[in-house]
Amino acid sequence: MRSERKTKQASAKPDQGGHFGIFGGRFVPETLMKALDELTRAYLSLKHNSKFQKELAYYLSNYAGRPTPLYEAQNLSRALGRDLRIFLKREDLCHTGAHKINNAVGQGLLARYLGKKRVIAETGAGQHGVAAATAARLFNLSCDVYMGAEDIRRQALNVYKMSLLGARVIPVDSGSKTLKDATNEAIRDWVTNVETTHYLLGSVVGPHPYPMLVRDFQAVIGRETKVQIKKLTRSLPDFLIACVGGGSNAIGLFYPFLNEKVKLIGIEAAGKGIQTGEHAASLRKGTIGVLHGMKSFVLQDKNGQIQLAHSISAGLDYPSVGPEHAFLKETGRVRYESATDQDALLGFHLLTLLEGIMPALEPAHALGYLAKRAKNFPRGSKIVICLSGRGDKDLDVIRSAKLK
Ligand SMILES: *Cc1c(COP(=O)(O)O)cnc(C)c1O
Repeated sequence: MRSERKTKQASAKPDQGGHFGIFGGRFVPETLMKALDELTRAYLSLKHNSKFQKELAYYLSNYAGRPTPLYEAQNLSRALGRDLRIFLKREDLCHTGAHKINNAVGQGLLARYLGKKRVIAETGAGQHGVAAATAARLFNLSCDVYMGAEDIRRQALNVYKMSLLGARVIPVDSGSKTLKDATNEAIRDWVTNVETTHYLLGSVVGPHPYPMLVRDFQAVIGRETKVQIKKLTRSLPDFLIACVGGGSNAIGLFYPFLNEKVKLIGIEAAGKGIQTGEHAASLRKGTIGVLHGMKSFVLQDKNGQIQLAHSISAGLDYPSVGPEHAFLKETGRVRYESATDQDALLGFHLLTLLEGIMPALEPAHALGYLAKRAKNFPRGSKIVICLSGRGDKDLDVIRSAKLK
């Protein structure tokens, strides 16, 4: 009874101010409040505009490659035993190699409907920057991408891709010269250019309406999964598992199942170990704070200084997490666990050798977690894992990493 009430609440979020319980909201300069209000209003009306939705569906299917398959990984299932049935939601087969294109296409189209001529984006590893630059070409928008100088050095291939796509990559030299600092600069740009520019944010983070808007664009993952798993097994799955960086692929998979009797597990990056301080497990180890315009769990010291996150996968390397995940943790609807760099490498090699699929290191955390914990799952469980992206981008890291 009680848990039913909780799940009902979960689906009605956020409230008008963008709150998921005590999380979320808007912590931004006054100049952005009007822009965020406008964006919220415009988005909520387009959400029910059949022309917009038809166009979005067209680009998702003909440009981004949806629906993505739901593939039953029988070799992996056999190897892990216990008669598990493991299904992979193949976001790795999307255009540009990950789920990020779902959101980039959605917001690119939104920018066009808003009459904006320019988009800006923040990027860490460069994956969202490439997706945003791609969507900008599709919708004829100019595109500037903020990226930390340190990340530019580490991610040369994605920087080159963005330049081929005609985007301008703007180096950020402040702070740790990584994603957190790039996000600050993107927000600053938006404050100045809000009349002409749409801020194409990359995950379910930031001030309202972004956590809601990005979730809605990614929920196509869960909606498709629901139809596909019913067709394949005539029932719903027992478990959904997804990796959590900012949290967009995870909430995209989970959202359509929040009111169902399905167990949901989010996997954070435990880096070198959750006790070492070198990790990105903001839900498990962070404390409540404000970052990038939202209230959520944040990796910070006692003075509120943001700590550096660490993970072998750049896409999980963020010192906070979307406010809806913070809320789902507090209500207990989703269980948040973690997997180390080593677990991720194990997951990568397992899937590559057993199924001939090279996953990105982000979803490899979910695979490694399952491989290590398979004995804790009830016999015969049906498990869907969100394979959020493909591994090509990570091969240099994998080549030089040692699997212990
Ligand atoms: C960026 C990225 C992630 C992490 O972002 P979320 O918003 O947590 O989904 C996960 N997987 C891949 C492949 C990514 O590129």
